[in-house]
Formats: sequence, structure tokens, C-alpha cells
Amino acid sequence: MEKADITIIGAGVIGLAIAAEIARPDLSVFILEKNNAHGGGISSRNSEVIHGGMYYPEGSLKASLCIDGNRMLYEIASKHNLPHKRTGKLIVAVKKEEGEDLERLYDNGRKNGVTSLELISKKHASTMEPNVQVEAALYSPDTGIIGVHDLMNYYLARAQSRKAQIVYQTKVMQIEKDSSPYRIFTHNAKSETFEFSSAVVINAAGLESDTIANMIGGSYHLHYCKGDYCSISGVKTGVVQRLIYPVPAKKRIGLGVHLTMDLNGRFKLGPDTTYIDRKEDYNVAPEKAEFFYQSAGKFLPFLKKENIHPDMAGIRPKLQGPDDDFHDFVIKEDSPGFINLVGIESPGMTASPAIARFVRKML
Ligand SMILES: Cc1cc2nc3c(=O)[nH]c(=O)nc-3n(C[C@H](O)[C@H](O)[C@H](O)COP(=O)(O)OP(=O)(O)OC[C@H]3O[C@@H](n4cnc5c(N)ncnc54)[C@H](O)[C@@H]3O)c2cc1C
Repeated sequence: MEKADITIIGAGVIGLAIAAEIARPDLSVFILEKNNAHGGGISSRNSEVIHGGMYYPEGSLKASLCIDGNRMLYEIASKHNLPHKRTGKLIVAVKKEEGEDLERLYDNGRKNGVTSLELISKKHASTMEPNVQVEAALYSPDTGIIGVHDLMNYYLARAQSRKAQIVYQTKVMQIEKDSSPYRIFTHNAKSETFEFSSAVVINAAGLESDTIANMIGGSYHLHYCKGDYCSISGVKTGVVQRLIYPVPAKKRIGLGVHLTMDLNGRFKLGPDTTYIDRKEDYNVAPEKAEFFYQSAGKFLPFLKKENIHPDMAGIRPKLQGPDDDFHDFVIKEDSPGFINLVGIESPGMTASPAIARFVRKML
């Protein structure tokens, strides 16, 4: 039977970031990926926003890893010429009453250590973004965008330069923990079984991370929460310079339908939030265009219905059910040498370098 020192399950932004952080020429590190390419899961279906860290409760992993990850991502992107932009972001109140919500968010962000936030007046916000309907705003200058595929390719290249190996079309089917090391059973594309052992296992399997964790006695349950996007046509690049978000709902599942842009300046709206059955359904219903028009039209008055087109979707791996309160990331050694990363939803991409460092310190 083959033996590995460390096996990472899942080649998304999290598994790859961890591989880049922990790989060393004197260790045999394997990344197992069920698909025939890396980064085709949650990581390829997101907003590519480098989040600021003001939304999450003080003391949570989401807050601290997002804030550290934000700083680390800008450093990595600048040092290694990864396409990115510090666009800044405005969270806009469209009614006077929402001003208090902005103040709460500002206070929360400051408690978390986001020192660059600014509460700004209607006049100031309108000068920054003349085409946005706004009564008051919270400005986050350190929010930005990055090409997630460039980031994942960077992590993979770094891991491989340190002798980690990626194995595609290898789906983990079963793990036995009776004896140390762990015994891992995989299927290849022809459903042939291959078995090997690994001293350490890191579960970064995204939407399947609960299934993997439960193979060694865990009792996690992920809810799938879909986020649809709409593309925008017929609107001039530059009509808005920054990412524009609404004030989030009190019981937060997502951040509210917002306007982001990619590195080419193309705008998109979304994602919204819909809990779905546990299957990977990425269709976007045509009716979504009307819903997005109603939601985003409140603060983006230049949008017309005909500008908005159903586009792509992503699925969040949520530990928080529809009626639950906030749930943090789980990054935990549930069995000696077996680290589970479960519920790594947003701000997972932003937090990825900080999560990787956190996992290295656990090992
Ligand atoms: C709609 C949406 C918008 C988002 N926007 C942002 C954003 O703007 N900014 C931000 O910071 N974060 C954002 N996120 C969160 C971020 O995308 C995720 O936290 C991150 O991509 C999770 O990466 P991952 O590696 O854990 O999962 P994945 O990318 O899904 O990687 C897991 C990998 O494991 C593989 N796998 C699964 N099961 C097995 C198995 N049994 N054997 C082998 N391989 C397996 C899968 O094929 C997959 O490639 C968003 C998420 C969503 C859904």
C-alpha cells in the first residue's frame, strides 16, 4: 500500500492555498480532486471580491481570517502580479432609517479591526458615485476584486514547486480511521478503487466536506444555498466606479443583491440567496431578471429591465440553516491528524491565505 505524509481532499481555493502553505520537499503531500481540473467547484462560481471584514461577529474566525486574508491577498497579488484591483466599496442606505444600520456595521467593523471604514454623508457619497441613489453610506476602501483562477493557479504552482502532487479524477469514497495512519479509498474515472494510507488528512472538499468529515465519525450537515447572478448589458463601463452593496438584512444569509464588476469592468448583479435541495443545480430562472431589477433598482436608478440578464449561479456550503443564526467556519482537528474545513462559504476566497496559515499552525 502506498503511503503519504499529508493528503488534502479538494483542489478548490482552500485546498490549494493549504497545499501552497504546507508543502515541503521532504514531505509527500497529495491533493486529491474528483474532477479533471482544479477549481471547478464553489471557487469558480463566486464574486471574486476581496472582502473587508466588517460584517462578521467580533471574535469569529470569519472576521479574523477575512481581515488577515484581505491584507495577505493584496500582498500576494502585488508581489506575484496577479490581476486585482482595490476598487473600494460603498454600502448604501436608501432610506434615512437605514443610517443606524450603517453605524452598527461601522462599529462592528471597527471592533473587528477594520480601521479604514468611513461613514459618509449623502453629499460625499453622491460626489464619489453620482449615479447611485444614496442617503448615507459606509465606505470600505480596502474591498477589491481579484481573478480567482489566477489566484488558484498561483497557489497550485507554489505547491508544486515545493513538490506537492495533484491527482485529478480521484474521488474519495471512504476513509478508515481504525489505525493510524488513515486509510483512504478512492475511485478513478472508471470507478476503479485505489487504496493508500496517509498520516495527516485535510478535508477541503467544499460542498462535500460534511460527507468526508462524517466518514470518520463527524455529524456535520451542510445546507446548499444557491446564489444566482445576472449580467448587465447596455450600461457604460465606469458609470459606477466602486462595488455597491445595499444595507444587509437583519437576519443575514447573504449580503443582499449587489453590484460588482470584474477586472475588465463588466458589471454583474448578485448573488441572491435560495436554500435548495442537495444537488448542484446551476440554472438561473428567467424571472430572476425582474427580481434583480426590483432589488438593485432601489439604489442603481440608471438600470433598466432590459439591461439585466440571467447569468451564472454558485452554491454556498452553509452550516447555517434557513432559520438559524450566524454560523462560523469550522476548521477543526476532529480526530488526531484529521483536519476538517466545513462550511467555508464567503469570505472563504478572501480568507484563503489566512486559513492556510491557520491550518499550518494546527499541524
Ligand atoms: C455565490 C458565491 C459567491 C461568493 N463570493 C465570494 C467573494 O466574493 N469573496 C470571497 O472571499 N468568497 C466568496 N465566496 C466564497 C468562496 O467562493 C468559497 O469560500 C471558496 O471558494 C470555497 O473553496 P473550497 O476550496 O472550500 O471549495 P471548492 O472550490 O468547492 O473546492 C472543493 C473541491 O473538492 C472537490 N471534491 C469534493 N468532494 C470530493 C471528493 N469526495 N474527493 C475528491 N475531491 C472532492 C470538488 O470537486 C472541489 O473542486 C462565494 C461563494 C459563493 C457560493
